[in-house]
Amino acid sequence: MQSHEQPVLRDLVLVGGGHSHVGVLKAFGMRPIPGVRLTLICTDTDTPYSGMLPGYVAGHYSFDDVHIDLGRLAAFAGARFYRDQVTGLDRVNRKVLCRHRPAVSYDLLSINIGSTPQLQGVPGAVDNAIAVKPIARFNERWLALLSRVQQHPDSTTVAVVGAGAGGVELLLAMQFRLRQTLMHMGRNPDNVRFHLFTSSADILPTHNPGVRQRFDAVLKQRGVQLHRHAAVTQVSPGRLMAASGEVVDADEIVWVTRAGGADWLKDTGLALDADGFIQVNDHLQTVTDPHIFAAGDIASMVNYPLEKAGVFAVRQGPPLTENLRRSVQGTALKAYHPQRRWLALISTGDKFAVASRGWLGFAGAWVWRWKDWIDRRFMRKFQEFPAMPDSAAPGAVASTTGTVQLSAEESLQAISAIAMRCGGCGAKVGASVLANALSQLRPVQRSDVLIGLNDPDDAAVVRVPPGMLMVHSVDFFRAFVNDPYRFGQVAANHALGDLWAMGAQAQSATAIATVPPGLESKVEDVLFQMMSGALEVLNEANCALVGGHTGEGQELALGFAVNGLIADDPTQLMRKGGMQPGDALILTKPIGTGTLFAAHARLAAKGRWIEAALQSMVLSNRAGAQCLRGFGVTACTDLTGFGLLGHLVEMTRPSNVDAEIDLSALPLLDGAQECVAAGIVSSLQSANVRLRRAVRNQEAMVAHPRYPLIFDPQTAGGLLASVPAERAQDCVTALRALGYVHTTIIGRVLPAGDALAPIVLCG
Ligand SMILES: Cc1cc2nc3c(=O)[nH]c(=O)nc-3n(C[C@H](O)[C@H](O)[C@H](O)COP(=O)(O)OP(=O)(O)OC[C@H]3O[C@@H](n4cnc5c(N)ncnc54)[C@H](O)[C@@H]3O)c2cc1C
Repeated sequence: MQSHEQPVLRDLVLVGGGHSHVGVLKAFGMRPIPGVRLTLICTDTDTPYSGMLPGYVAGHYSFDDVHIDLGRLAAFAGARFYRDQVTGLDRVNRKVLCRHRPAVSYDLLSINIGSTPQLQGVPGAVDNAIAVKPIARFNERWLALLSRVQQHPDSTTVAVVGAGAGGVELLLAMQFRLRQTLMHMGRNPDNVRFHLFTSSADILPTHNPGVRQRFDAVLKQRGVQLHRHAAVTQVSPGRLMAASGEVVDADEIVWVTRAGGADWLKDTGLALDADGFIQVNDHLQTVTDPHIFAAGDIASMVNYPLEKAGVFAVRQGPPLTENLRRSVQGTALKAYHPQRRWLALISTGDKFAVASRGWLGFAGAWVWRWKDWIDRRFMRKFQEFPAMPDSAAPGAVASTTGTVQLSAEESLQAISAIAMRCGGCGAKVGASVLANALSQLRPVQRSDVLIGLNDPDDAAVVRVPPGMLMVHSVDFFRAFVNDPYRFGQVAANHALGDLWAMGAQAQSATAIATVPPGLESKVEDVLFQMMSGALEVLNEANCALVGGHTGEGQELALGFAVNGLIADDPTQLMRKGGMQPGDALILTKPIGTGTLFAAHARLAAKGRWIEAALQSMVLSNRAGAQCLRGFGVTACTDLTGFGLLGHLVEMTRPSNVDAEIDLSALPLLDGAQECVAAGIVSSLQSANVRLRRAVRNQEAMVAHPRYPLIFDPQTAGGLLASVPAERAQDCVTALRALGYVHTTIIGRVLPAGDALAPIVLCG
């Protein structure tokens, strides 16, 4: 999480987690510029390293060997990581438009989104061919192909379209892996056949004749049917037709050619080349807009036409970093002149590789080992991070205004923000900042809200309809993730959880927020992002935001006082007491958020674990509570800070029962067990562990690998409920159908025994 003490002065937004941007992130992580905030927006949490992709396909590497974890890398760099798809730019207002979140403001933008398959030009290709690009999506397509071949009873024919280095290397890797797979299954490896189509006379047209001959020989020896001068002109299910007149039947058609720029770039006004790639100058700056840079496949250097290859994207990382630094600091940019010749190491699938550079070419198993060494060394840069000195040290603040170029007004605001840091915490956010941020939000309108945000007064006035009771709750916590929008979503969902757990419907909410001081535009933006996320959740719950208070504070924090309504009938309330012996205990969401976010703060959690945890945290308990009621729930609560054990004891005590929990049945978030096994727990864990005396057989169970997780504090956790045993299985099925896919029966309610400790663990 971003923990810089100095105010944010400039936003550098990186679109796409390609090979150049991973270099930028690492470099900024090693040497940040005080006051410059990085944000990475990428569709994927794990981005593939193209150099090792064929080795992964061939089965020599695992998924994690060949993917860079953007979540961890961004955390190391102190960057905000927004997992989303960029759909456009508003260059006038300097905003990046995203598919699933509000637009993201930038001062400086860099684009590294790779290339996009251009299948549209060939009839039938879109529906019937598997595009290798974008490579970040290739993994799922490859795994699906692998499984189809395994399940295919007879022989399978695979056609690869495109015989550049990517196509040839991929074909040989796929062939190696599929043959090995069939052999392991006891089937004939010759049952998988390959065709390679190229529009030109030669394969590997950008390499020297010696290298081409070597690969011609390898393809021949491996029985690959090569179709030269055979541009594919039409694809239909299971069949492709080439300009040469050839027609080939194929079960799988893999497309490794004709890549272009993403369609959304056409509407940005940026100058694009004939294939839709962004035209950049020698500074990797777009020729159109000095605030926008581009690198990798998506960039087209006007003075240096380059092949689309990961090696160039990697090499552009350092000059791109340098020019982004210079641009934000207002110094002269530095020209980058790519090498005319480069070394390509192309593998043949079987741990053998060919080196190609200009007119040179050599081959061997040792070349593969050499390539393997180079590739693993590259990946280590993004897997192992040095411990960094605390960039938030107070001394760093003083130098802040000197590093980033600011206008006079901005300098004043920055200086006052620093002063605020020194003593003014808790002050109110400026009225115009608040008004601007909130004016863009549209809270849901309810007829029972008499005075709310649209007609503000000293306080909100809300009517309690006749025959209804009002249900109150409040929650407040610090941002645990470097993404104000998603934090806002989680904070609102967490607060509403208490209402759903009582069986109430949400009515209104007031917000309390603290935002770190800084330039007004930055404070306003953070507030807007955070409240947008929160409002989305409140509106979805038909809960009217009727007021709030925002102050400046050291850290971003948000909480809500929420009010709900329930019929004036005690039987309608879902209470913690009420459990009956024999009931089944149901948990609707997996646990582990405490340990996962503690690990995230230490760079010890995988980005995809954090992503999955966030998705779980924004899943509302509203429908789950209604479902539980329909199955005769006898008691219910939502899991939050006290963890599973703490909340269970809160239920057994008033119910005057005991309970048994099956540790092996507990639904866990991905990575939770690994994190506690590594000894990483939340700072709240020790307080929760005090309750261990409630466990009757703790000595017998303390060594169980899941034991620490019963103390793990949850944020926006699931519902823990007791349901009559005979209806429990149907209830689980219904909850899963509603989207609570991890719902599980985790134990049962026992009659109160003589022992003081009410909880028994098993599993
Ligand atoms: C099978 C295969 C093997 C290859 N082998 C090699 C090789 O050995 N050596 C080599 O040099 N090259 C190789 N290449 C080519 C190489 O993959 C590409 O040139 C390289 O990936 C380009 O890197 P990049 O950084 O430009 O973009 P990419 O690596 O494609 O990364 C782009 C990133 O941007 C993200 N993104 C895309 N669109 C959006 C959006 N709208 N919003 C947000 N994020 C977005 C993607 O999720 C991805 O993380 C191979 C290609 C293939 C298909």
